[in-house]
Amino acid sequence: MMNYDIVIVGGGPAGLSAAVAAKNSGCDSVLILERDSELGGILNQCIHNGFGLHTFKEELTGPEYADRYIRQAMDLKIEHKLNTMVMDISPDRVVTAMNRDDGMFRIQAKAVILAMGCRERPRGALNIPGYRPAGIFSAGTAQRLVNIEGYMPGKEVVILGSGDIGLIMARRMTLEGAKVKLVAELMPYSGGLKRNIVQCLDDFGIPLRLSHTVVDIEGKEHITAVTIAEVDENRRPIRGTEERYTCDTLLLSCGLIPENELSTSAGVELSPVTGGPKVNESLETSIPGVFACGNVLHVHDLVDYVSEEAKKAGETAAKFVSGQIAEDTGRTIALKAESGVRYTVPVTLSPERMDDNLVVRFRVGDVYKDSFVSVYFDDERVQHRKKRIMAPGEMEQVVLQKKQLAQYPALNTITVKIESE
Ligand SMILES: Cc1cc2nc3c(=O)[nH]c(=O)nc-3n(C[C@H](O)[C@H](O)[C@H](O)COP(=O)(O)OP(=O)(O)OC[C@H]3O[C@@H](n4cnc5c(N)ncnc54)[C@H](O)[C@@H]3O)c2cc1C
Repeated sequence: MMNYDIVIVGGGPAGLSAAVAAKNSGCDSVLILERDSELGGILNQCIHNGFGLHTFKEELTGPEYADRYIRQAMDLKIEHKLNTMVMDISPDRVVTAMNRDDGMFRIQAKAVILAMGCRERPRGALNIPGYRPAGIFSAGTAQRLVNIEGYMPGKEVVILGSGDIGLIMARRMTLEGAKVKLVAELMPYSGGLKRNIVQCLDDFGIPLRLSHTVVDIEGKEHITAVTIAEVDENRRPIRGTEERYTCDTLLLSCGLIPENELSTSAGVELSPVTGGPKVNESLETSIPGVFACGNVLHVHDLVDYVSEEAKKAGETAAKFVSGQIAEDTGRTIALKAESGVRYTVPVTLSPERMDDNLVVRFRVGDVYKDSFVSVYFDDERVQHRKKRIMAPGEMEQVVLQKKQLAQYPALNTITVKIESE
């Protein structure tokens, strides 16, 4: 069995940033395991720009952004194995993986960082009636086909779901000569970033039909048309509102799910809301020495936040390995999401272990205009910040300060909520 201090599962932006941070924190024995043939993760197929505005104050394409981190990892001589699939992680941090050169092999790690990203919600889960003809793709698959394989899925396109990948693909398919007829979204709001709605739909005159879904798919061998209908407040199609659109392609962009099979089999406790591990202030999961970051933890809107979060995971994993993480004194404060806040990451914090400032990220469950993000220490409101607009497609954050927490030695619960006044 091999031995490494830190094994990182996944060589996307989260894995790369965590590896660089761990190495820069003094940990020399770091190994990245990546199942793909290249480092960079999903960014390799995101050839549009818009990445890195926060991190590099520049607008980079996905591959350019990934390249910045790959270079840092190479400069630091961080070891990695490509075409290597991690099959299992045991609770005592034995990582089992396989590739063509080494066959099946096992590594005893002192710490493991989960950075496996997320996957698209499959069509099977969406209950669309009709045949299952060719011509139906997830938006991410279509993105890979167009941007990496050089293959156009079709010429007349309908998109179901307004997640960011669907929006990006509406523009991409249009630029490649296809006619994108519309984007239908089940919810009364878009699941994507506002800037993507403007730049990918509005700028190209592609209609976004909120509160609409696909109720029928036509075509036996290949898709020929879809019918969409408006839905009521219970998301049930409203009779008489059906509209038929001929098309040869239906793209599905109906949400992302953290890739957590490995975490589950390792026994990591998952959040039912995010689908990712429950973590503490150090991004440590319920298994000591197993950390998580990036889209496997919760689906992020911007890669900059993935890199920032993963840096912290790398730093804390390195501290864990060298025994520098302060002993948990048993004083753990729970973070609670309430009134419009769907979840928080982390879900607990130890005031002793936390940095001077702790960023708590969350998403809201609806569109809120001119509302307040409030933080309560037990029953006392300690933060109250007005926001002009908050939407489920965009991540929000509050920052907690160690020095402020020190003034509340008996604090049990920190609640983050949305208030109208
Ligand atoms: C279509 C699309 C458009 C986007 N547009 C933008 C944008 O404009 N601006 C922006 O800031 N962000 C954007 N993002 C978001 C950004 O790309 C993601 O936030 C970021 O890539 C997440 O990084 P990650 O490392 O967590 O996951 P990923 O990039 O998905 O990397 C995870 C890696 O883990 C590997 N892996 C998984 N399981 C295993 C296993 N068992 N063994 C070994 N390896 C494994 C995968 O192969 C992959 O390489 C976009 C994302 C998508 C999908």
